[in-house]
Amino acid sequence: MNFTPMTPSHIEDLARIVSSDRVSTGSSVLDLHAKDQSQHNPVRPEVVIWPESRDEVAAIVTYAENQRIAIVGWGSGSSLEGNPIPVQRGIVLDFSHMNKILAIKTEDFQVDVEPGLIYQDLNEQLRYSGLFFPPDPGARATVGGMIANNASGTRTVHYGSTRDYVLKLTVVLANGEIIEIGSRSAKSSSGYDLLHLFVGSEGTLGLVVEATLRLVGLPEEYAAAIVTFPTIQAASEAVVEIMRSGLNPASLELLDAACIRLFNQEKNLGLKEVPTLFTEFHGPYMTYLVEILEMVEEICRDAGHLGFKRGLGREERNRFFEARHELGEMVIRAHPDCGTQVIDVAVPLTAYSDIISSASLAAEEAGIPGYAFSHAGDGNLHLNLAGRKNNPNDWKLIEEISQELVIKALSYGGTATGEHGVGMGKKGYMAAEHGKSLHWMKQVKALFDPKGILNPGKIFP
Ligand SMILES: Cc1cc2nc3c(=O)[nH]c(=O)nc-3n(C[C@H](O)[C@H](O)[C@H](O)COP(=O)(O)OP(=O)(O)OC[C@H]3O[C@@H](n4cnc5c(N)ncnc54)[C@H](O)[C@@H]3O)c2cc1C
Repeated sequence: MNFTPMTPSHIEDLARIVSSDRVSTGSSVLDLHAKDQSQHNPVRPEVVIWPESRDEVAAIVTYAENQRIAIVGWGSGSSLEGNPIPVQRGIVLDFSHMNKILAIKTEDFQVDVEPGLIYQDLNEQLRYSGLFFPPDPGARATVGGMIANNASGTRTVHYGSTRDYVLKLTVVLANGEIIEIGSRSAKSSSGYDLLHLFVGSEGTLGLVVEATLRLVGLPEEYAAAIVTFPTIQAASEAVVEIMRSGLNPASLELLDAACIRLFNQEKNLGLKEVPTLFTEFHGPYMTYLVEILEMVEEICRDAGHLGFKRGLGREERNRFFEARHELGEMVIRAHPDCGTQVIDVAVPLTAYSDIISSASLAAEEAGIPGYAFSHAGDGNLHLNLAGRKNNPNDWKLIEEISQELVIKALSYGGTATGEHGVGMGKKGYMAAEHGKSLHWMKQVKALFDPKGILNPGKIFP
């Protein structure tokens, strides 16, 4: 696909659509929009624009399509697979000025938002309504980026992923047309489900300019436990049994000994440095949760646990979650001369024990520092690997480990990406994962974006 190289006259045209102070070709701005949090090579866009309304987005996209210029949406740039890197240069639309809550409909458990809103800021503003938006990818992600990547996180095992919270979207299509998809109803049987076609489409089918999100009530009570195990296998056995028991954890995170060592070093948590399960339950009153934790303890005892620490106060629980969310940065601090790559695969629960054991083993055998952590209840494994920046051999080994884990996950009927999306990093596995249906995905892309201007170079091999 050939794109038109941009000239000063294109920039002048765009500066007539939005005010010129919201159009930049400055080096530092282009650098900031050249890479996400992955190890993929940066590519500078030719211009960055900060739109402030759906009409501005529509006018810019129409211009880009007419001129055949690539155009990529930008949230916080926290993706881990190169999803927003403008590989064909052109225009980056940074949504950070479109970050407002438009309406909170408390009685309907809904909120209307602009795409550039950071989800933690949304939850902060919802605090007094007794409601919240549960998906929590950890980084300071925007709602638009979360919708585009179908992000999820530590609470997905109970609450679901972003997809489950999107009721309605306003989208600007590649030809500049603005459409509304979905409804305010909690359910619908009306026609093709275009809404969920856009969730997880990584900005390749259209740009989200407004979203109606479903909210849920804040739980009355929380109870959490930290459980230690002699081996990853014993911990995974407990995970499967907890899920089978129907006890419905709100969070079920498994971390290997290397992660716990980092938590102790940085946060002084004083935890035993062995495979550790963190589990949390939400419920209406404490006595109910106490009974649940007793059952969980029994399951963990049967799986051979070393210790079961419950009765965590809110502060202790928050400290653990904070550490969990800061793990990526802790790995970077622990290996200052290294870059990191986070592998993300998901498998059916029965294959979980094998995939997480293989992950730790692969890193150990390759001599690459590796940190295995996972949204265990969803069978979603991450392996964070640290490779020396100027050592091609480290990166070759990391690529081999990544390939091995993806191929293993697919052989179990799993997926190459549980939550980070395809971006650039997982394109090579699309044919293996989707077979003949990949052809139909390409047809969908061609239908919505015949000139291929929207986030080109992503998803498709
Ligand atoms: C430390 C760390 C921890 C993380 N943990 C998790 C985790 O637990 N779970 C998880 O799911 N992810 C996780 N991530 C990955 C990342 O935070 C998520 O993928 C997040 O959804 C990206 O949001 P963003 O706002 O940064 O989007 P960006 O990275 O800016 O963009 C993501 C994609 O969305 C597109 N896009 C942006 N805005 C729009 C729009 N308005 N319309 C259409 N397309 C748009 C972009 O073009 C791109 O394809 C983590 C990342 C980091 C750095």
